[in-house]
Amino acid sequence: MSKYLAMKVLKFGGTSVGSVESIRNVKNILASREGKKVLVLSAMAGVTNKLVEITENIKLGDHSAINSIIAELKQKHESTIDELIDKPGLNSYAKAFVNNVLEGLQEISRNKYSEKVYAEVVTTGETMLTYIFSTFLTNSGIQNNFLDAKDFMQVSNLENPDTDLVGKLFQQNIENLEPTDIYITQGFVRINAQNNISTLKRGGSDYSATILAAAVQADEVQIWTDIDGFHNNDPRYVENTHAIAELSFEEAAELAYFGAKILHPQTISPVIKRQIPLFLKNTFTPDLPGTKISAEIHSRGLKAISAKDGITAIKIKSNRMLMAHGFLKKIFEVFDKYETAIDMITTSEIAISLTIDDDRNLDVILEELNAYGEITVEKDHSIICIVGEGLIEDKSTSRLFELLNDIPVRMISYGGSDNNISLLVDTKNKIQTLQGLNHKLFEEQQVPQFV
Ligand code: ADP
Ligand code: ASP
Ligand code: MG
Repeated sequence: MSKYLAMKVLKFGGTSVGSVESIRNVKNILASREGKKVLVLSAMAGVTNKLVEITENIKLGDHSAINSIIAELKQKHESTIDELIDKPGLNSYAKAFVNNVLEGLQEISRNKYSEKVYAEVVTTGETMLTYIFSTFLTNSGIQNNFLDAKDFMQVSNLENPDTDLVGKLFQQNIENLEPTDIYITQGFVRINAQNNISTLKRGGSDYSATILAAAVQADEVQIWTDIDGFHNNDPRYVENTHAIAELSFEEAAELAYFGAKILHPQTISPVIKRQIPLFLKNTFTPDLPGTKISAEIHSRGLKAISAKDGITAIKIKSNRMLMAHGFLKKIFEVFDKYETAIDMITTSEIAISLTIDDDRNLDVILEELNAYGEITVEKDHSIICIVGEGLIEDKSTSRLFELLNDIPVRMISYGGSDNNISLLVDTKNKIQTLQGLNHKLFEEQQVPQFV
């Protein structure tokens, strides 16, 4: 294992490889950094969405729509090859590779839709781009090895990947290759417990990078994207947000899990276990410091706010709860039986409210819960998550409660940990809540604190 110690894992997202100019930027970033690197790349920006469209057309049996998307993808990748790769032999290798992938796509599209077909289709964007990038480096005289992630990204359990196994398979894969400083592989794809191609879910290349980092015991992970680091609020909805210099693993894990799009929800867990620092950097302004996520805690108090959509709130009201014990256990057992995680909980004497984000088994869950009381279900909610080490001790955060005058909050979770306050709001009030909280917590003058 020690031979891996000097390795870094660098992941570049869709916009970082979305155009010829940005792909050239990525090459410059690599060239300016020494040492052994594993490069994890996404598909070119927009390509995975097009591939998802293909899967929808497979369901509909609309082959002319599929053909026109494939023609569009062919044009996009071939013109990228023509602009980046000028050596005729390499240019035609890269085109042959892409055409082979697209012909395969055509063939898969004739099958009946299944989860496997979905995964085979949507992961081809990564396959094409990584090969193009590897050939582009070769064309520029930079030695590198192209690796097929399906040979080592054996992830049976999405929540708890066996990184030792991935490390062993990775090692076997590179053993017989010409040693180089750069290994290039695809994000997003995995092999599941049934030995089929599957994905790490949308946005999963971040997770690929941290799984690999833990697997090869990298000394750091760099996630390169289109923004200068982790911002204190969602920049898509709130003005005047800013990058945070440092976050602890726990803070970042909480924010990613609760919707901060910059990181796939599960990104942090593999690097926490091995204490591997993660840096978020902007491909377009590589000299800016970005955000460092590590075990160190440099400052306490409020750091950032994020929001997670698609939340369903369930209320169970029952007089039997009064003074009774064992009631909550029975309720939780229902969720456990259907492997459905609960995110927020609040209770009163005669009711319990809780939230779930996975409503695939909602119908059966509700059927069983009916035995315990009167059930109310509210869909389309968002959890707003306010995060910072020791946040609860920071008296000024109580200003957030002033917001309750303006925005109907369905549930509040305060004190579950020192680091997090969560609010549940109707998704139609999400943006207003994020903006209101930004104003109250980050922009208003600090009020004098009680001691
Ligand atoms: P990539 O394709 O590189 O994976 P993503 O689009 O998945 O990039 O993630 C980067 C985007 O995440 C940013 O452009 C920004 O709009 C969005 N985002 C949401 N919340 C945050 C946040 N708290 N900090 C930074 N970016 C955020
Ligand atoms: N290309 C995949 C997606 O768009 C994976 C990723 O970008 O992380 O979801
Ligand atoms: Mg992403």
